[in-house]
Amino acid sequence: MTASKKTSLVRVKFLGCGDAFGSGGRFNTCFLVDRGESSFLIDCGASAMISIRHFGVDPNCISAILLSHLHADHFGGLPSFILDAQLVSRRTHPLLVAGPKGLNARFLALMEAHFPGSTNVERKFPVELIEIEPDVAARISTELQVKGFAVVHPSGTPSLALRIECEGKTIAYTGDTEWVDTLLAAGRNADLLIAEAYTYERKVRFHLNYAALREKLPLMNPKRVVLTHMSLDMLGHVPDLPGCEAATDGLEIVLD
Ligand SMILES: [Zn+2]
Ligand SMILES: [Zn+2]
Repeated sequence: MTASKKTSLVRVKFLGCGDAFGSGGRFNTCFLVDRGESSFLIDCGASAMISIRHFGVDPNCISAILLSHLHADHFGGLPSFILDAQLVSRRTHPLLVAGPKGLNARFLALMEAHFPGSTNVERKFPVELIEIEPDVAARISTELQVKGFAVVHPSGTPSLALRIECEGKTIAYTGDTEWVDTLLAAGRNADLLIAEAYTYERKVRFHLNYAALREKLPLMNPKRVVLTHMSLDMLGHVPDLPGCEAATDGLEIVLD
């Protein structure tokens, strides 16, 4: 028997795994990673606060939000999250938001578009924005690190796949993108790969299809693959997806 290093269980809960258009009645992208003392979100799509309430998550337990790219279905939930923190959840501790270069300007524009004047209000908690440079690991906290990889998906600022290291586990997320070889490094040997599968085999520009992903999976060798961001076409093929699982809103995965 070997002495075991103290690690916490890492739970990943899919609060939202839909595409931008509500296909299948699913919430926009929002994954909760619960690692014991504090949790973080991967993406915060426009419906994030609805799914946070729906699944009974305490928003004050979320210390950080990591963003793959700045489309509404991936970051449009931020204004409601921040106003809730201020007015309803009465947050007093910092919120850290990490996302692609250009996040600062897009964040201000988003807040003002949703709630004019909201950027001038003094808050009881700081919002710290971190802009992630591709291929450079950004340390979010002692036990949380994220690295971005450039992908092919126009969103006004660079779009990223994310490779997240926390509590000794690796979670990789493709974000939205057509196949690009940077995904190999993003997902290699990950404990969990969350991959876009927008369509089954039909090629849609700037989005990933299941057939293209399947072909590359042996090169990535992730331990577990969960598919997300599925259109109606793709949802019609669930659950018959060898080697992969399909996400549902509310799906919880424990990495131990
Ligand atoms: Zn999307
Ligand atoms: Zn997108």
